Amino acid sequence: MTDVVRTVAALRAALAPRRHAGAAVGLVPTMGALHAGHAALIGRAVAECGVAVVSIFVNPLQFGADEDFDAYPRDLDTDVALLDRLGVDLAFTPADFAPRSVSVRAGALGEVLEGASRPGHFDGVATIVTKLLNAVGPDRAYFGDKDYQQLTIVRRLVEDLAIPTRIVACSTVREPDGLALSSRNANLTAGEREAAGALSAALREAAATWGGDAGEARAALRRTLEAAPGVRLDYAEVADPETLAPLEGVVEGPAQALVAAYVGRTRLIDTIRLEPHLAATAPDED
Ligand code: AMP
Repeated sequence: MTDVVRTVAALRAALAPRRHAGAAVGLVPTMGALHAGHAALIGRAVAECGVAVVSIFVNPLQFGADEDFDAYPRDLDTDVALLDRLGVDLAFTPADFAPRSVSVRAGALGEVLEGASRPGHFDGVATIVTKLLNAVGPDRAYFGDKDYQQLTIVRRLVEDLAIPTRIVACSTVREPDGLALSSRNANLTAGEREAAGALSAALREAAATWGGDAGEARAALRRTLEAAPGVRLDYAEVADPETLAPLEGVVEGPAQALVAAYVGRTRLIDTIRLEPHLAATAPDED
């Protein structure tokens, strides 16, 4: 049975004996409305750790004033039933977890891409992730590749603040047409759901045609998504996978393509790795 705890004191009391018995602790932070993407992270945590903790908290700090905090899907009973089936030991579902006044700043990595469109978003993420890592003290914490900028910032966060947790990245789980699973997909109408397939299709196309020219790939991505019916593009970028700085010209190493768009009122993001172009790493001929 998944034990549901709502306070840090109860969480620590439940974890202490298992930790003292030598179990590695795994944490999967979520905002609930769980889907198969979450389940993939949770399955890994259960398989790899002696104790698996899943937090469910819709973090108000990462939503802007005009964003969808109120409309964000919530279904705690269904979520806890799923956690039970997945063999999760502890669900941490705090009613209020936002710090009263202290916060963590994500820094420069948080100011580009999603951060440029959603000012303060990653400070909110960084603050709550730091507090969760402090509350749980996990050996490993699992994050999805889909939220690539978030993953990059969390890796930087644990390094910069010397938090002794290994960050484990998990690949994106997709619908058969390629749409990345997201809790927000629940808010799409049938027509919007069809239109939303354009994001992953454009990214797949970018990866398939990637020849190492970042400017060309960026322009093609933008062209495709600006022409996609029912899609209002926010950004499409080809960036350095570590610094997230936009790449220019022909690059030899890997690149990361990242897109954000509105489909109806729903904001969706997706990303794909563009692997080094073969011609740039051609083997020696002799
Ligand atoms: P969220 O509840 O949206 O905050 O997501 C919680 C965690 O699940 C984050 O680390 C996400 O990156 C990850 N996640 C969300 N969607 C997917 C997906 N489709 N595949 C894999 N991981 C995902």
